[in-house]
Amino acid sequence: MKFDVIIVGAGPAGAFTAYNLAQAGIDVLILEKEELPRYKACGGGITLKTRSLLTEFDLTEVIEDRINQVVFSYNLEQPIELSLKKPVVFMTMRDKLDNFLVDKAKEVGATVRANCEVENIVVAEDKVEVNTADELFTAKIIVGADGVNSLVADRFNLVTDLEYAVAYEKELKVAGDRLAEQRGKINLDYGIVSKGYGWIFPKQDCLSVGIGSYKTGVSLKESLKKYLVGEKITGYQEIKAKGHPIPVGGVKRRLNDDSCLLVGDAAGLADPLSGEGIFYALKSGKVASQVIINNLVEGGSLDNYTQLINQEMVPEFKKSKLLSKLFFMAPGKIHKITTKRKWLLEELVKAVYGAESYSQLYKTFLSEIPFLGVLMNQ
Ligand SMILES: Cc1cc2nc3c(=O)[nH]c(=O)nc-3n(C[C@H](O)[C@H](O)[C@H](O)COP(=O)(O)OP(=O)(O)OC[C@H]3O[C@@H](n4cnc5c(N)ncnc54)[C@H](O)[C@@H]3O)c2cc1C
Repeated sequence: MKFDVIIVGAGPAGAFTAYNLAQAGIDVLILEKEELPRYKACGGGITLKTRSLLTEFDLTEVIEDRINQVVFSYNLEQPIELSLKKPVVFMTMRDKLDNFLVDKAKEVGATVRANCEVENIVVAEDKVEVNTADELFTAKIIVGADGVNSLVADRFNLVTDLEYAVAYEKELKVAGDRLAEQRGKINLDYGIVSKGYGWIFPKQDCLSVGIGSYKTGVSLKESLKKYLVGEKITGYQEIKAKGHPIPVGGVKRRLNDDSCLLVGDAAGLADPLSGEGIFYALKSGKVASQVIINNLVEGGSLDNYTQLINQEMVPEFKKSKLLSKLFFMAPGKIHKITTKRKWLLEELVKAVYGAESYSQLYKTFLSEIPFLGVLMNQ
């Protein structure tokens, strides 16, 4: 079967690229290896900046909680509580959110094949041939939205130097009063694991609790066990437990070829400080679809995609990466300082939800906490 564009992967990057292409009248196919809806190990937190990319949709049915309280702690001690005027993060379950986006793509004309793993890709003179176990599909352009272990990136020899954090998460059914205590509130602990953090995210009827770290050789399972005990999450029923790498951005890389583009995790576009990836998956999908439309309609170069991502996302990732380096070098000291200067954490939260840039946050932290400058130069 022949299409204009084939997208590999039905996560937020793939579904949103397909939605934008199909809306512009492009004949697009998504190939997804899993059955849909599919589980994805993810906190499912979407920030205000993410919502602003999805204003054309009513997200009510996929939002499980609205967060206006953030509690920071260091190794379970000295909690600092921020109460915000409005919700700035929204909780979702990824199976529902991703399927919602896939349905939106279908509604505007995208074709979706689930249980259809792409096994091989061959570039011919004027087309790309995509093989699954049972079928051959062809297209003018292929989009790799197939996540961190991207087959598409591998076949096109793109993004060969990804940097990762690794995260491990459990979905837990807890007692009603423990769930009620967590309503509208997320907990973040820097210190429970080296070079990373733990989180508790409330969902409609469970908690997503996880740990992520840059450090190799650390046991995320053990850290999570300790975190659960420390946060008095006991007597739960475990629904899921899964680990997954988070590919962090911060390096300018080539993200396209003459007939291929990479989006989302496949392109290594998650925030180095927070691990947030859904925003960047959606945003890169939107930029990719605009560049593809321009290519198919007016012959514009696909190279514009790499240029736009490297201009718009990478500089902020570089600052976020520097901030994460500082945070994870001295989380205890930073926590102590912010106990007395809570407003610094408010600035941090603003940068994460999109009301402030990481460049500004970096300047603020360095001018307010002078020893960070010393650390930076070590
Ligand atoms: C534990 C954890 C917690 C996280 N928490 C958050 C959070 O709270 N907020 C946030 O914004 N981000 C979070 N992230 C990051 C976020 O999950 C990712 O950045 C995001 O999923 C990237 O979306 P994507 O569409 O690029 O890739 P994915 O969501 O990984 O989707 C890729 C899809 O491609 C499919 N696929 C792969 N190979 C093939 C193939 N050969 N053929 C067909 N299909 C294929 C996969 O089955 C999958 O459905 C977290 C990550 C982890 C690991």
